Amino acid sequence: MAGEPKDDCLFCKIVEGHVPATIVRETDTTVAFRDINPQAPTHVLVIPKAHYKDAAALATADPALAADLLREAQAVADEDKLESYRIVFNTGAGAGQTVFHTHAHVLGGRGMQWPPG
Ligand code: AMP
Ligand code: ZN
Repeated sequence: MAGEPKDDCLFCKIVEGHVPATIVRETDTTVAFRDINPQAPTHVLVIPKAHYKDAAALATADPALAADLLREAQAVADEDKLESYRIVFNTGAGAGQTVFHTHAHVLGGRGMQWPPG
């Protein structure tokens, strides 16, 4: 069923506490934790506790939960005192998505290039 935990999903395991993570924020519906391979001084992943494969699947099934992610991204930026930051939702393997549980990358603390690589 949509949103149900998936046995083979790394981020579901983090939500359930079965895989350790450096959690920086948690709400009823979301978890935010530091990326294990940071690409910027702040590199936090904000995920819904419910399992959806990507941002669009989440927004379609539960728009309010998608909005929770965006608010939590701002909260992470506020906690790290970032004036500006970048949110990335890699969608599909060709765009670099490796974990198929919706996650917002919140990146900041250094200058950002455009276009991204
Ligand atoms: P993506 O490539 O967009 O699917 O992003 C997945 C991200 O998860 C990558 O930036 C990885 O470095 C990160 N990652 C993988 N395993 C872990 C973990 N156990 N804890 C924290 N971050 C992780
Ligand atoms: Zn999952």
